[in-house]
Amino acid sequence: MDDRQFRNAMGKFATGVTVVATEVAGNVHGMTANAFMSVSLNPKLVVISIAEKAQMLEKIKQSKKFSVNILAAKQQELSMIFAGQLKNQQEVPFERIEGIPVLPGAVAQITCEVSAEHVEGDHTLFIGRVTSINLEDSDPLIYFGGKYRSLADE
Ligand code: FAD
Repeated sequence: MDDRQFRNAMGKFATGVTVVATEVAGNVHGMTANAFMSVSLNPKLVVISIAEKAQMLEKIKQSKKFSVNILAAKQQELSMIFAGQLKNQQEVPFERIEGIPVLPGAVAQITCEVSAEHVEGDHTLFIGRVTSINLEDSDPLIYFGGKYRSLADE
């Protein structure tokens, strides 16, 4: 099986898009991620999967905290910024919840403390214990087949 076939298969799984954010020594770092899921209700746990080559890996290892910001349909540009797909460096304003940076306008802002990390292949899974949740009532950004989409009207 080649890498392309694996990527194509994973791309058949439609997801939302998140920006994972953390702060180290006063510098906020964000990264686009769709490898995110809920793990447990009691206690409330989520998981994110971060590539070994990502700058984000060492930052979360240091801070032991992160937020997961589920992007709204109108936030595609932010997804591209935090995936390094836009050339011009842009200033992105963050707010803070319990000292953790969160993205304004996200449909959900979920703050977490790292409760465990597992190295698996070329990624590290961070299990996050959820410390706060903020919700906004708008449609999410969708990612499917390597392209951004939006929810079709019912
Ligand atoms: P960099 O590449 O250095 O940073 C990413 C970009 O964010 C840079 O352009 C940087 O300038 C900008 N940036 C960071 N912080 C700020 C800030 N405070 N203000 C303004 N700009 C800032 N990778 C994974 O490991 N796991 C995933 O689940 C995952 N899912 C993805 C889903 C999608 C839809 C896409 C498009 C990409 C996904 N990626 C995922 C790939 C990942 O987003 C990129 O490889 C990313 O560039 C890795 O970021 P980095 O931490 O190495 O930092």
